[in-house]
Amino acid sequence: SVRRPTTELDEPFATTCREPDVTAPRENAALVMLARNGELAEAKRTVESIERHFNRWFHYPIVFLNDEAWDDEFVTVMNATVSGEARFEVIPQAEWTFPAWMDVDRARESIARQGREGILYAGMETYHHMCRFYSGKFYTLEALKQYSWYWRIEPDVDFHCSITYDPFVEMARRDKVYGYTISLPEEPATCPTLFREIADWKEQHNLRTTQLWKSMVSPSWAPWPVRSLLSWFRHRDRLGDGWSLCHYWSNFEIANLDFFRRRDYQDLFEYLDKTGKFYTERWGDAAVHSLALAMLLDAHKVHHFEDFGYRHDWFFQCPANAPGGQLPSSELLGGGSSSWAPERDGGIGCRCECDGSRTVNFGRRCLNRLKKPNTAKQPPSWETFLG
Ligand code: GDP
Ligand code: MN
Repeated sequence: SVRRPTTELDEPFATTCREPDVTAPRENAALVMLARNGELAEAKRTVESIERHFNRWFHYPIVFLNDEAWDDEFVTVMNATVSGEARFEVIPQAEWTFPAWMDVDRARESIARQGREGILYAGMETYHHMCRFYSGKFYTLEALKQYSWYWRIEPDVDFHCSITYDPFVEMARRDKVYGYTISLPEEPATCPTLFREIADWKEQHNLRTTQLWKSMVSPSWAPWPVRSLLSWFRHRDRLGDGWSLCHYWSNFEIANLDFFRRRDYQDLFEYLDKTGKFYTERWGDAAVHSLALAMLLDAHKVHHFEDFGYRHDWFFQCPANAPGGQLPSSELLGGGSSSWAPERDGGIGCRCECDGSRTVNFGRRCLNRLKKPNTAKQPPSWETFLG
């Protein structure tokens, strides 16, 4: 069975299957998916997966965002797939482009150079717009103004376990701000000066160092990756720390919008945007979110959804199943599949349909580190748990 650490500040919200409480009040929340018309098949699979494993009980609205007008077919298919409301929104042009002051020709040259250098996705102008959008403009979007919480989803994602409680309600009840599933190290070539810029902002604002910040940056004696990359990053903060590159993977996020609408977060985003480096480098929104959270939040406000089965690309998290996860009567009525694997009991997942003995979640390199500030008693096997 999988060893789990004893956490006091960030316990799983549930360790068993429950009878979904379909009558409980909902939070002011939406599922949000940014997608292109051409991703209809992949988007549909994601929506089917989250509906089957969660939303068929809770019926949260799904807001679809696009930088272009939606095809009729996308709208028709999604309306037939969701169990709640579907909304189809177009991002205003000004929020999906270069900053107004930027020399667009020079930015495009820089993007082409990054492409020639083979930096991941960095040769695509739209990818830079997407990362800039998700780093800042997303949170102040008119279309999301009415919501306090969002659950970010993407085309081509699988949810493998039943989620029989309302994560928005639990986040609010336990005073959480941000929830994630997968952690991983960032591609260094995408962000040579991101940590430097963020550390400068932090020092200008005289922010104290939080436990979470300590967990994401490493003292100079740390082993790889920090040491071997020091020459590349050429930066330390005032305490001599360099970023470990570890971050929360942002294609899954359940978070409070109001945190990212706060003046300090938006000021940090504006500061980063003014460097132009969402284009002259290829800063990812996941890294920006993670470092900002580490600076601006107490560690116990971040939640690891370790009970969620989740896959995107070739990374996945699969909890072993909780013992005896009977089908709730509501699921029987819903006619869902029951092809879960009871022989993989002993964990915390609910009817997970994945291999609970395997997980690709960078346990040793990142997850341990990110969870550390929430863990009062570190087990002797700390360095290898979930490895
Ligand atoms: P990756 O997860 O980093 O590999 O990047 P993806 O290609 O999956 O893009 C992340 C998210 O942004 C996905 O939800 C995509 O559908 C969306 N996305 C990326 N580029 C564009 C774009 O040009 N237009 C729109 N509408 N969505 C985009
Ligand atoms: Mn993706």
